[in-house]
Amino acid sequence: MQKEIKHVEATESSTNSSVAASDKQRGVYVRTFGCQMNVHDSHKILQLLSREGYQPVQTPEEADVILVNTCSVREKPEHKVLSTVGSFRELKENNPELVIGVGGCFARQEGDVLLRKAPLADLIFGPDNIPELPGMLQRLYEKRKPVVEVAFDKADDVRFLDVEPQAGSSDLTAMVTIMKGCDKYCSFCIVPYVRGRERYRSAHEIVEEVERLCSNGVREVQLLGQSVTSYRWQDGEETWELARLLRAVDKVPGLERLRFTSPYPRDFKPELVACYDGSVPTLCEHVHLPFQSGSNEILYRMNRRHTREQYFEWVANLRKISPNITVTSDVIVGFPGETEEDFAQTLDLIEQVRFDQLYSYKYSPRPRTPARKKEQFTEEEKTDRLYRLQDLQNRISKEKNEALVGTIQEVLVEGPSRKGGGQLTGRSRGNKSVNFLGNPALIGSLVNVKITEGFHNSLMGDCLGAVEKDAQ
Ligand code: SF4
Repeated sequence: MQKEIKHVEATESSTNSSVAASDKQRGVYVRTFGCQMNVHDSHKILQLLSREGYQPVQTPEEADVILVNTCSVREKPEHKVLSTVGSFRELKENNPELVIGVGGCFARQEGDVLLRKAPLADLIFGPDNIPELPGMLQRLYEKRKPVVEVAFDKADDVRFLDVEPQAGSSDLTAMVTIMKGCDKYCSFCIVPYVRGRERYRSAHEIVEEVERLCSNGVREVQLLGQSVTSYRWQDGEETWELARLLRAVDKVPGLERLRFTSPYPRDFKPELVACYDGSVPTLCEHVHLPFQSGSNEILYRMNRRHTREQYFEWVANLRKISPNITVTSDVIVGFPGETEEDFAQTLDLIEQVRFDQLYSYKYSPRPRTPARKKEQFTEEEKTDRLYRLQDLQNRISKEKNEALVGTIQEVLVEGPSRKGGGQLTGRSRGNKSVNFLGNPALIGSLVNVKITEGFHNSLMGDCLGAVEKDAQ
């Protein structure tokens, strides 16, 4: 039976943890490492603490509380986390009242050991402990002793924090968490150990959160979960899987675009593929489908539970139902035991699938994962394979973007382009970055852009004006 999963209003603990009694509002600064889940968690931390009377600030120098939200998926970000915390030494020496907290996956992985590794830290919290942060800070101020909370939610008390629309916010896009954790145990991945087993959020809460966001101007929503395609919610006799949830969210008034990440390819069932046939109009024509390796032997050792042949079939099914769908993916090079032949199979898969974009990583041994015990490649060997793979993908990405020259793309205009020169930037439904010259008044609207140039990671075009939608 599905255990009850608690929806937590961000104001829940306001009475005992407010900073209203302090002389001034305490400033809080959050530095984020890692994935979109962490970016979203940091957003929630700031919202939660703002409601408790803290004031988000832009620099560590302005802060009374510095929180570092960490990642442990690879080794490099861990080193960066420790050096980042160390970089606040002078601030702490000048202001002994300054609180330094470390949260997220690395905090969950290390627990109170982190107090030794990062001696400036006085607050350690895991990803499930964000709702407790106001109370933890209060305890710290009262008892003046480090506070550590890294336990997962109890099975009968799983908490999801809503992101509330901010008054006057101009956010066009929002992320909504629909599940936590992962049960897949890929042999290279630390996520099941630091984010816990899969726990799902009520479909009704998810739809309500999207409704609130859209009624405040959000136009694009991304549903988030570590293995989002495994979403499953039992409501009495009724079973909700991701396909049904997408169809329900699609009907929310004001929603223009719907995305989800990150999927587990095996869970891409026919009902989910069918959502791309145009019957879920807000669902964007983009799928992120991690393949990790093109070699069946390596896929087996990774415990991915699929073959390259199945992967080809899944991509073919998606392209059959949605011919213009963009396909992006994740790949790891230098997994223990990956021969030159295995690596050639990965390059071959990339050539055959022709991804629009690829996120490529060197294998990094992670604590508690089975693959860490195997013989490892040197950094030079992994780097060599990574560069060869990226050269191939850069060529393909550029060719695919050049092939879009002359097409008209619907773009949600997000703001001024970093390229300057009066250019605006936004994303196509296929999740490509599109730049064009345009009036800033267009920010927040959907426009049609005729593509004039394709680069390896963006498109350039001419704005044709606002998209006209049929009256509902
Ligand atoms: S499915 Fe993704 S999150 Fe889950 S163990 Fe595998 S790589 Fe990690």
